Amino acid sequence: MLLIKYLAFNNSIMESGSGSDLNGSKLNGSKNVFFDCHTHLGRNFFKNDLKEVIARAQKAGVQRVVNCGLDKQTNLETVSLAREFDLVCAAVGFSPTDVSKATGEEELAVLSQIESFDAVAVGEVGLDFHWIKDEGERKRQAEVFLKILEIAEKRGLPVIIHSRAAEREVVDILESFGKSCFVMHCFTGKLSLAKRALDLGCFFSIPTNVCYYSSMQKLAGIVPLEKLLIETDSPFLHPQRGERNEPAFVVRAYETVSNIKNINIERLCDSVYFNFTHVFGVSLPR
Ligand SMILES: [Zn+2]
Repeated sequence: MLLIKYLAFNNSIMESGSGSDLNGSKLNGSKNVFFDCHTHLGRNFFKNDLKEVIARAQKAGVQRVVNCGLDKQTNLETVSLAREFDLVCAAVGFSPTDVSKATGEEELAVLSQIESFDAVAVGEVGLDFHWIKDEGERKRQAEVFLKILEIAEKRGLPVIIHSRAAEREVVDILESFGKSCFVMHCFTGKLSLAKRALDLGCFFSIPTNVCYYSSMQKLAGIVPLEKLLIETDSPFLHPQRGERNEPAFVVRAYETVSNIKNINIERLCDSVYFNFTHVFGVSLPR
């Protein structure tokens, strides 16, 4: 069944053609199917050219992107983008740095969005101890994170997790929490922590910075194919640093990860396809 769907997609991509500027990718014109499981297309990052950005992703063979909310406004935006574009799936979230900025009233409003908005995932959520140093604020982040994990579990949705400079604390919380489906986004903790998260059944989403960032290359090396997802984190983490990233460039991350794992791109695409549809419960267009 999977193979039949996969071939159908390859055919549809052949018909629609390809050949976008993938910013140095040798895969220009490939017939493979790609997924970008973490983007931020709202907050005016793409306000002048969103339609072109979406078109370039489709031309490159990207089938779906998961657009993550960060706060009240971006949660509204992600749901509306998912209605407007077939390419976009909505995730509703509350980023830890936005938790720290929110009033009590705003916090309740965002939690209510996470409870009720139509979405394929909860995210991005988690802890950020890189930007937030105050102990009280860190404690609040952890409390809100736990509340969100409970909502996600009730809704049966996967959770996309940010853990910058707080990887140990996040893994501790997930171990104590238990059984939901977790996706670690741009994980930069020690490999020993990554292994603990893998033991819990977590998926790992490898961003486009894998093209140059040696720690991410090491992580991509140890994550088994059945736990691997790929993302751009657009507009951040451009494969060549510095410029605005976009979903079409996810192909660069696939290319780098297939080299690291010494497998062909078709096998990697097949695994990520399977993982993506399994984690996010997304069916694809015929
Ligand atoms: Zn993000």
